[in-house]
Amino acid sequence: MYAPDKDSYIRCSLRGKFKNDLKLKKDKLVLTDIAVVGDRVDFQLNDDGSGVIETIQERASFLSRKAPKIKGTGVKGERLEQVIASNLDALYIIVSTDQPAFNNKTLDRFLIVGESSGLQTKIVLNKTDLIIADEFDEIIELYQSIGYEVFPCSTKTGQGLNELKNSFLGKTSLFWGPSGVGKSSILTAVCPSLELETGDISSFHNKGKHTTVTVWMHHVGENTFIVDTPGVREIEPYGIKKEDLGHYFPEFVQFINECRYNTCTHDHEPGCAVFKAVEEEIISGERYDSYLRILATTEKEERF
Ligand code: GDP
Ligand code: ZN
Repeated sequence: MYAPDKDSYIRCSLRGKFKNDLKLKKDKLVLTDIAVVGDRVDFQLNDDGSGVIETIQERASFLSRKAPKIKGTGVKGERLEQVIASNLDALYIIVSTDQPAFNNKTLDRFLIVGESSGLQTKIVLNKTDLIIADEFDEIIELYQSIGYEVFPCSTKTGQGLNELKNSFLGKTSLFWGPSGVGKSSILTAVCPSLELETGDISSFHNKGKHTTVTVWMHHVGENTFIVDTPGVREIEPYGIKKEDLGHYFPEFVQFINECRYNTCTHDHEPGCAVFKAVEEEIISGERYDSYLRILATTEKEERF
C-alpha cells in the first residue's frame, strides 16, 4: 500500500469524468466514482507536484452506510449507498459502558453493517472504569459466544489497551462508533505518536457534495493503518433485504435453513427455527429483539 509520509504526500483531484456515476453492484446502488480513504488509485503527476486521479481500482472490501439525501441525482437519497472507506482488514466498533450508556440495539446496528460489508468485526467496550465489577460479564459473554472478539478497556486504567493494540498490528482497521464513547482517547492511548503524526498522515478530506464525513487514515506502524471516522449518532444499514437480514446475525445462521419457508423472515412465521431457538433460549431474546427492530426498518425501505 502506498503510504504517504511528510515528504511524499501528493494532493490529488479527481478527473472530471468522475461525476455522479451511480452503479448497481450486487443489487445495491453505489456511488462508485468518489475516491474514498483506502482506495488504490492510478494517478497522473502534474509538474507542480499535484496529481489527478485517473482510475480507482476495484475495492477488495469496503464499508458503507446509507447516504444522506442527495439533491439532483435523480435517485432518492435514501437508496444510495455511501462508501466510507475501502480495502479494510478489520472493523472495530467502539461502545462505552456508560456516558453514553451502553445500548445493545445501537451496537447490533453497527455490527450488522460490518457483517453485511463482509468485514471482520470486533467490539471495543470502553470505560470499564465506570462500572461495578462483573456488571458487563453477561453482555461480553453473549457477544463472545456469537463469535465476536470483545476488548473491554479503559483509557483511565489502561485495561485492555495492549490487547487491542496487538490485534491491529500489520492491518488496516477502521474504528467506528457512536460519539463520546472515547474513540479519540483510545486511539491516542494506543498510538501515542498519533497526535504528532497528524501532520503527516495520509488524510483525505472528502468535500464532495455526496460526503458529509471526514475520514482519516493514520499510518501508525509497519503496515499498520488506522482509519478514523467521526462519531455518529445512529447508523442506518444500507441495502439489506429483509430475507437476508438474518444472515447478518451470525448465531441465526445455523437455524435459518431449518425454517419451514425459505422466504422466512423469522418474524413469528409458522415453523420458524430461529424463533424456536429464541424460545429455547439458545438465541438471546435481546438480539432477536434487535433483529425485529431492524427488520421493521428494512421493510419500510422495500415499500419505498
Ligand atoms: P469520541 O467522541 O468517541 O472520540 O470520545 P473522546 O475520546 O473525545 O472521549 C469522550 C469523553 O469520554 C472524554 O471526556 C474522555 O475523557 C472520556 N473518556 C474516554 N475514555 C474514557 C474511559 O476509558 N473512561 C472514562 N471514565 N472516560 C473516558
Ligand atoms: Zn425463520
